[in-house]
Formats: sequence, C-alpha cells, structure tokens
Amino acid sequence: MPLDDMIRKLDGANMDIDLTAPADQIVWDQDTCPWNEADGTGGHRCAVKDVSICPYFCGVEFMDFVLCCYPNGNPLRRRT
Ligand code: SF4
Repeated sequence: MPLDDMIRKLDGANMDIDLTAPADQIVWDQDTCPWNEADGTGGHRCAVKDVSICPYFCGVEFMDFVLCCYPNGNPLRRRT
C-alpha cells in the first residue's frame, strides 16, 4: 500500500516543535534553526502548543523533518 494511502493528514493538532534542545541533553542529531542562527538566539520555535506557529514553518514530513521556508514566508499560511 502506498505511504500516502496509509497516512491520514489531520488538521488542527496542538503540538510543540522546535530545534532548540541543547545538544548535550539529547541523544539524536538536530539541525539548527536558520532564523535562530541568523539572530544569534534560541528563542524561535517552529510550533508551540497554544502559543505560536513560526511564520517560516511549512509543516513536518515523516519521520521528524521540519519543513522550514526561512527566510521566505509560508505562502500557504492560514493564520497570522
Ligand atoms: S520553522 Fe524554521 S525558522 Fe521557524 S523556528 Fe522552525 S526552523 Fe526556525
């Protein structure tokens, strides 16, 4: 069965996604947020439950890839 037929895409989930965990506190490789890198901060987070969705966040892809469109805004963004 094709993967697209096995995976439901369900709208409106609450979630917390970021690329800000200290490297010495996690056991997996983690890329750096390009916006945090440009600003010299760790404050930008992709999607935080009940708080915000980064304007550059373009979703996630199996299994744990953030789809980031920095420095271009997400053209499909519904909310500001
Ligand atoms: S979507 Fe991109 S720019 Fe926004 S917080 Fe995530 S990695 Fe950083």
